[in-house]
Amino acid sequence: MSLNELCSKYLKLLSEKTKKSRTLYDRACKVLPAGVTYSIRFFEPCPFYVIKAKGCKIYDVDGNVYTDYWVGHGALILGHSHEEVVKAVKEQVELGSHFGYAHELEVELAELIIKHVPNAEMIRFTNSGTEANMYAVRLVRAYTGRKKIVKFEGGWHGGYDSLHVGVSPPYRGPESAGLPEEIIANTIVAPFNDIEGVERIFKNYGKDIAGVIIEPVLGAGGAIPAKRDFLKALRELCDKYGSLLVFDEVITGFRLALGGGQEYYNVNADVIVMGKIIGGGYPIGAFASCREVMSKLDHLKYKNKMERSFHGGTFTGNPISMTAGKATIKVLERPGTYDKLNSLGEYIIKSLKKVVEDFKLKVFITGEGSIIGIHFTYEHPWCARIAHTRRWNEDVYKLIHKFMLVNGIAYMTEHTVHFLLSTVHSKEDADYLIQKFTEFLDLIKPYVPKEAMT
Ligand code: PMP
Repeated sequence: MSLNELCSKYLKLLSEKTKKSRTLYDRACKVLPAGVTYSIRFFEPCPFYVIKAKGCKIYDVDGNVYTDYWVGHGALILGHSHEEVVKAVKEQVELGSHFGYAHELEVELAELIIKHVPNAEMIRFTNSGTEANMYAVRLVRAYTGRKKIVKFEGGWHGGYDSLHVGVSPPYRGPESAGLPEEIIANTIVAPFNDIEGVERIFKNYGKDIAGVIIEPVLGAGGAIPAKRDFLKALRELCDKYGSLLVFDEVITGFRLALGGGQEYYNVNADVIVMGKIIGGGYPIGAFASCREVMSKLDHLKYKNKMERSFHGGTFTGNPISMTAGKATIKVLERPGTYDKLNSLGEYIIKSLKKVVEDFKLKVFITGEGSIIGIHFTYEHPWCARIAHTRRWNEDVYKLIHKFMLVNGIAYMTEHTVHFLLSTVHSKEDADYLIQKFTEFLDLIKPYVPKEAMT
């Protein structure tokens, strides 16, 4: 049997477990392209259909229960349906879910975030991380009067044109049809964790670079942390050339620490983009900076539209997202929250590494805090390029995804092995994951390519 045949076996097992989901998926395919509302939510044999989620458990229509390591794309750091968030939202719904006028909740959430996030003196809310990045890019261009934006190979900032570049191999050109080259002509894709590569770009374009945008830990690119020295060197380069350093903290914000990646790595960003967690499970995004930069959005200060940067939207700052975000941060503020969450992450990373060592395989565990990645690569993936181009093969990724699902462990995607923890994942959940990973390596041992043995 080959890895591929093993995969077919697990696909069959899954199909047997998810018959009702299959019926729903067939219906979905008639009305939703690929049967899904987001391509990454598809996986073989078909997505399972969720009916309920509580804590770190997900329940599907066929009666299966999964321990969830996706937690709403990383948004649900307190787990699904956290009591305090649910209570606050229920109360708010009764009072109104969308005013379309100013209200106190937007001020309160803004104050709360600014209290914790370094270098954030003012903030504006959006409906998604994509939108927040879009407005942040526009803002840094407006503030500096420059056009070029530097982003990194494998960096995922959502589907906005200027940043929908260099996400997947070969890390050149647009990531989508319908995205003309001229639209992305001012985006420069730089190598991740390679300061010399970035220096070369600055030597060529320095005075034209409005901003550099980076995830402190690559999320979709492989749960790969930026090296602290790399971030520090980026900070210095930006200072030298008068460019703004933008941290896309849509995943890392309020995940690594209350102050996000800036606090965790002790590096200052000029603009901080957030999303996910700050909405407590409801749609949100936000971008923040110092007063001076943010004042570029102030239409009362800049009467001429060509002097200011636009931002807005129907649902921005809606009371439900504000309420859920506030309730979530209030829970996160409790002493010891991050120590506990990050310790569980460290425990899993350490344990998975030990398993790999015992099996003497080239499998690499990456991550930081509660963000964890597993890579079946021939060398350590310190950048997305290695994580994606130095894989043993694709089958092993697909197989582990099915293997985990059959064993009641859910994560996304079937092309990348990433786990995101919540504060309600327990040591027992972690031990079960480690046990299943051990069983998985044992299962694939006969099929491991020779070059992947140490
Ligand atoms: N930035 C990062 C780092 C992300 O991980 C994501 C989403 N996964 C986004 C931006 C886009 O956010 P959204 O999906 O809310 O548009």
